[in-house]
Amino acid sequence: MELEPLYKVKVTCHYCETEYETSRVRPSLKRPYRTDADFCAYYKLENPDFYVVRICPHCGFASTENATEHLNEAQRKAFKEQVGNRWVKRDYSGARTLDQALATYKLALLCAQVIQEKDRVVAGLLHHIAWLYRYMEDHAQEHRFLEFSLEAYVKVFEREGTGGNEAKLLYLLGELNRRVGRFNEAVQWFSKVIHDKRITDAAMIRASREQWAVLREQMISSKLELPEEMLEADKEAAKRSPSK
Ligand SMILES: [Zn+2]
Repeated sequence: MELEPLYKVKVTCHYCETEYETSRVRPSLKRPYRTDADFCAYYKLENPDFYVVRICPHCGFASTENATEHLNEAQRKAFKEQVGNRWVKRDYSGARTLDQALATYKLALLCAQVIQEKDRVVAGLLHHIAWLYRYMEDHAQEHRFLEFSLEAYVKVFEREGTGGNEAKLLYLLGELNRRVGRFNEAVQWFSKVIHDKRITDAAMIRASREQWAVLREQMISSKLELPEEMLEADKEAAKRSPSK
């Protein structure tokens, strides 16, 4: 017998404190068969990303596990005025289609913006929305949301800095810039991951080298002038293997 891919958990609403149910994908089914370089994942059965947003059926407050748990008075007031008062009761506790998943992320984004949620949370929501449009093959909307998420991730970087252990954020800034066609910026971010001695995350260093190579090919085939960093790196590589 096959296992139901979804199971339900109970969560408590951060706004009205009602307990409600939301679905999740079984951990054993969470392995993607393919992942894009910006971590957008593809699954044979249910996509766990469709179930990241939890929506309270009573008040409409939408959030993720990374959201702020305790809302202050100003946040409560802003949510009530801008979202809660207009909420028409809907139930998202069961299986979600791609369109429904998109609706949940849009509502989570609205709630996050209204309560001025942390940039990191907002960036993640925007990035997920871009992925949903990628699944739909809506390239224009995907591009728009990649740009928005890139802007938000830059804010995270500017506000929090990196201290050497934020290789994934730096890598992502490189990859998102590459995807929206800002190649020179992409080179700068990949270069930080590759050359910053404080960065020890081997997986991100490897990914940055790989995407740097992808970017280099992309720039050559588009007949773009390679930036200084790339020419330097080419020279270094030539020095290391003079026989070629
Ligand atoms: Zn609620």
